[in-house]
Amino acid sequence: MAYMALYRKWRPDNFNNLVGQDHVSRTLVNAIKSGRISHAYLFTGPRGTGKTSTARILAKALNCEKGPTTEPCNECAACRRIDSGSSMDVFEIDAASNGGVDEIRDLRETVKFAPVNGRYKIYIIDEVHALSRDAFNALLKTLEEPPEHVVFIMATTEVHKVLPTIQSRCQRYDFKRITVDDIFGRLKTVVSDMDIQVDDEALRMIAVKADGGMRDALSILDQCIALSEHSLTIDRVQQLLGLVGKEWLDNLVSALQSRDAAAVLTMVDEIIRSGKDFQQVLGELGIHFRGLMIFKAAGIVDGVDYYSQTDESIKKQAAGFTQEQIVWIIRRIHEAANEVKWSPQPRIAVEAALLEICQRDILMNKSASADKAPSAQPVDDGRIAQLEAKLAHMMGMLKSGAASVATPKGSAAAASSAPKVTATVAKPVQVAANITEDGVELWQKTLDHLRATGKEQVMACTQNCTFMGMNDAQFVLGTPKGVIKGLLERIYRKNIEEAFGAVSGLNLSLVCQEVATVPEPTPRKGEIQEDVPPPTDDDFGISELQDDARERLDKAVDVFGDGFVHPEDIQ
Ligand SMILES: [Zn+2]
Repeated sequence: MAYMALYRKWRPDNFNNLVGQDHVSRTLVNAIKSGRISHAYLFTGPRGTGKTSTARILAKALNCEKGPTTEPCNECAACRRIDSGSSMDVFEIDAASNGGVDEIRDLRETVKFAPVNGRYKIYIIDEVHALSRDAFNALLKTLEEPPEHVVFIMATTEVHKVLPTIQSRCQRYDFKRITVDDIFGRLKTVVSDMDIQVDDEALRMIAVKADGGMRDALSILDQCIALSEHSLTIDRVQQLLGLVGKEWLDNLVSALQSRDAAAVLTMVDEIIRSGKDFQQVLGELGIHFRGLMIFKAAGIVDGVDYYSQTDESIKKQAAGFTQEQIVWIIRRIHEAANEVKWSPQPRIAVEAALLEICQRDILMNKSASADKAPSAQPVDDGRIAQLEAKLAHMMGMLKSGAASVATPKGSAAAASSAPKVTATVAKPVQVAANITEDGVELWQKTLDHLRATGKEQVMACTQNCTFMGMNDAQFVLGTPKGVIKGLLERIYRKNIEEAFGAVSGLNLSLVCQEVATVPEPTPRKGEIQEDVPPPTDDDFGISELQDDARERLDKAVDVFGDGFVHPEDIQ
């Protein structure tokens, strides 16, 4: 006997074995019992939920030789003809195939004739929303005045595309997505009939993957069984479905939880190398977080995830996120899944989303405050730091240009240029630190080290600082008031600490202390007397700049204009 696909073999043949649609079968059974048969039915719902099967059962129930009955016999000639599609009274029209124009025209011709050997002439129109406009109009005319012996059963996955004028003439039945438990139960019945050992976990995984559709569930089971020998295990199903696997998912969630961006990127690399699809990865991640969301809200997670989760592990993972964070993460995963569809670089979309999830605290606050008060932006550290870094970079360019004139590279005088500009009065230091000769020397060496290693921007900031001592744990820098202190503390701290460590062999942390600057007795900006000629390029040493320094200076001029001031005046 030829092989018959499981979904055909196990197609429900009466209302009792229609899975997960009790509300539909109960109503239809009552209607048949009481003889209240409508002229038009509209079955709506997701694919694979039993709409077409129910239409056939209803057709058989009405035309069975032993009927009308709530339990068609499936054996009489009428039932068998309906099953084989050769009935002269039951017509199946697939509107999706060609818009249904010809079929509907034929239908209008034949509908007026009495049934050949059944009680009713039954038209099953699948995917009715796909009918062309002409076909729709033709159908509507027939529906307005249907002959006594005619029953229309229309099925659709997209009911919003069915004209309201048609919907209003139908009895509507909404087919639900079938629950994981119902699908699982049905699959269990199906495999109990077969000579194969199947793990419950494997069946549950298939039930989740089918996403509410029984036909899909049976098709997946069919494939899995065809590719396995005597047993079907969860590993095999995971492999055949291309799932990323519980272990990987758990590790990723834990890396996201601890905001370990490096680990997250490594894991993405790993899974992509193993040939997994980006959509699959994001899809599973979304399902997993949905599980966490439901667990947090309702305390249960059964049948949500592909993988059976122990309460312990789900509890631990759920505890690592707030409900708001989980909702935000799910939204971000969905965005990424959309981006992946269109992006020429889908990998970047996945990585960016996961890195953003690592930084969820900052990003969520940002979007929340933007929602609340678009006019009153709160202080945004990230942006300020960026602007400060740009400013420091420009200052560095200007200063390194000027400094390279005053102190040619490699000159011993370079070291002395830093203290020259900082005549400062130190406030009392908060930490107990001693200024020693050794300390001052270490700081000079640190500056040399920074210069030698090309840290121009750091140099630009430290030039106006004074060394104010050190103790066992810290070294203290006196900084001018303003932006410099923030730059040193937030952006260049690591550079300076490393340089200090490299020259001293000590592992000390930097403390910045704002000090008031004593102005030097040079004319300030705006105090230049009229008989003093305005400064020329030579006054700033610009004419002597090397080509590359000149170029950098030009760029700075582009940004800031050419209102040159002496470095001393910059603060
Ligand atoms: Zn029958």
